[in-house]
Parts: sequence; structure tokens; C-alpha cells
Amino acid sequence: MNIILLGPPGSGKGTQSYKLVEKYALSHISTGDILRSQITDKTSLGIEAKKYMDKGELVPDQLIIDMVSSTTKNLESILLDGFPRTINQALSLEKEMENLNKSIDYVLYFDVPFDDLINRLSQRVSCKNCSKTFSKSDEEYICLDGCSSQELYQREDDKPSAVSKRMETYKELTEPLLEFYEKKSLLSKIRANSSILEVSLQIDKILQ
Ligand code: AMP
Repeated sequence: MNIILLGPPGSGKGTQSYKLVEKYALSHISTGDILRSQITDKTSLGIEAKKYMDKGELVPDQLIIDMVSSTTKNLESILLDGFPRTINQALSLEKEMENLNKSIDYVLYFDVPFDDLINRLSQRVSCKNCSKTFSKSDEEYICLDGCSSQELYQREDDKPSAVSKRMETYKELTEPLLEFYEKKSLLSKIRANSSILEVSLQIDKILQ
């Protein structure tokens, strides 16, 4: 089973992906996480990507496409989180899957009102060690759900100046993917402004 998680920043894709990976034995590919680890390792891709990410812009398609195709090649059941984000990336993924004799089975669209997203992102802290995200109001100092690290921080691109740019970018470049996948009858809409458990139940119903 191959799944794409689609939705604006802060819509809960990352949180649900950790649950899905365990439940359905999927390989999690989060392009944001891969890029952040490239930045930590100061690779040339990381250094290049950081310039765009800090401003809330998308990293150029070709860099992302090459990065994903080298990762997905040998995997069986994949959960794509944060990719594709442009029509160009979606077309390239389609070609790649076709070459590998695979297909996308579900595109789960995380629908959340934009006002809720801005709030969520401004309250969000991330674990430096395992990348899981939490609301500041949950527990500010420890990565509860994952690795117990005490290194929680606010991502540069979750700061207000970058958040509005990320939302604009989402609307302009990523939102057209909804129609793209709807036409292929792959799109399922999730009401993602519910609790983590409720969102998870909605997803289970679709994947049953
Ligand atoms: P995320 O963790 O998914 O919110 O991604 C953080 C940032 O990484 C995005 O704002 C982009 O700058 C970059 N990024 C992640 N995935 C992609 C992608 N598929 N295409 C272009 N840029 C991406």
C-alpha cells in the first residue's frame, strides 16, 4: 500500500504519519525531515535547501525529485509525507511509480481552516532529536511521545514571518494537487481539525 499525505503546514500530517507507519508497516518518507537532517549534517543539499526553507519557500523541484527517487527505489509500502508539493513533483512521482510497476493507492487530504493553522504553527515546538512536534501547551520541555529528549525548539519556518509565506506557497503551488488527485479518484478528505484520535479513526475507516 502506497499513501500520500497532502495538506497545508500544521495540518497534522507528521503526527498521523508516526501512527500510520506503526499500524500499517509503512516506510515513512518525510521530505521535510530528510532536508532538516541534511541541514544538520551540513551537506551541500542541506546548505542549498536551508536558503529556501528558512524563508518559507519550496526547495526547487529537481533537488527534491532526485532526493525522493533515490530513497523510494528499494521500498515496498511507502508513506509520502510532504511530497509531492507541486504538480511537477506529482508528475515525476507518477512516472517513477510506473517505471517501478507500483502505484499510489490513497491520497489523504488533511483539511483544516487556515486560521487554525496559523495558531497551531505559532504554538508548535519540534524535537531536535526525532523531529516529532508538540503544542507548547502540552509539555514544553520534553519529547513525550518519542525519545524523551529535552531539546525542543521552534523551527525557523514556524516563526510568524515564514508561516505566512508557507501558507501563500501552499495555496499557489500545492493546492492544485487536490484537483489533480481528485480527477484520478485517489483523494480522500480528512476533517483534520479534530483530535488526534478522531483523525486517526477517520483514516482507519478509509484504509480498511
Ligand atoms: P515540512 O517539514 O514538510 O513542513 O517541510 C519544511 C520545508 O521543507 C518546506 O517549507 C519546504 O521549504 C521544504 N520542503 C519539504 N518538502 C518539500 C517538497 N516536496 N518540495 C519542496 N520543498 C519541500
